[in-house]
Amino acid sequence: MKLRFLGTGTSTGNPEIGCRCGVCTSSDRRDRRFRASVLIETKGKRILIDCSPDFRMQMLETQKTASFLHLDGVLLTHEHYDHVGGLDDLRAFCREGAVEIYAEAPVAKAIRTRIPYVFRKRKYPGVPDLDLHIIENKPFYVSGIEIMPIRLMHAKLPIFGFRIGNLAYLTDLKTIPKEEYWKLQNIDVLVINALRPKEHISHQNLPEALEQIRKINPRRAYLTHISHHFGLHAVVEKTLPPNVSIAFDKEEVQVIPENGK
Ligand SMILES: [Zn+2]
Ligand SMILES: [Zn+2]
Repeated sequence: MKLRFLGTGTSTGNPEIGCRCGVCTSSDRRDRRFRASVLIETKGKRILIDCSPDFRMQMLETQKTASFLHLDGVLLTHEHYDHVGGLDDLRAFCREGAVEIYAEAPVAKAIRTRIPYVFRKRKYPGVPDLDLHIIENKPFYVSGIEIMPIRLMHAKLPIFGFRIGNLAYLTDLKTIPKEEYWKLQNIDVLVINALRPKEHISHQNLPEALEQIRKINPRRAYLTHISHHFGLHAVVEKTLPPNVSIAFDKEEVQVIPENGK
């Protein structure tokens, strides 16, 4: 299984518009971050998690090395704009039929409200063909790939993380309900959000993320959903435990499959 980081930034992206701080003006490409999203390739299938407002640019970048026009499914963690703002741009992937979207009922409702023209019976030509599947907190399949949702709390908002094989992608969480930890055993690669060193009401800060990583104990952990207050990539990475990396845009990671399958 291969994971590609399409975006690793928080809701504003890095650089932030108008900001002249050291991170926003850094010449290190790892400090430039699109909004958070990943593309997963496993068993010949392609699954997108979240569809950010930068999706179009993320796909143009990705397709410099691998051209494709099919996604097997799109998993949505929650309805905030930085995670769903690119849904309209999925139209490029609808040439051969609908794109399958997987979301909880409140997320699906929010999407229908935001892009109502996509879901009308009589559609304007060219609008994307999106097939919304309602998911609950139990395993489901996307083109034969088992997906395990994991309940996370984004302050008071319940959202989903996802486990696919030995990979867990957990973003925008502040806390994990204790009854969900059993789903995070034997993780090879854990992706988890770490906004910045300072506390935040709805996002984990760096110490909180490191504490979760210690608890979950994956082989490797990657930090994502990073703000310009995080510090320079090159500086902060030197302070991290050896099994923890800061993810960066366009980074690709191999996930060792379960039971060597
Ligand atoms: Zn977010
Ligand atoms: Zn800045």
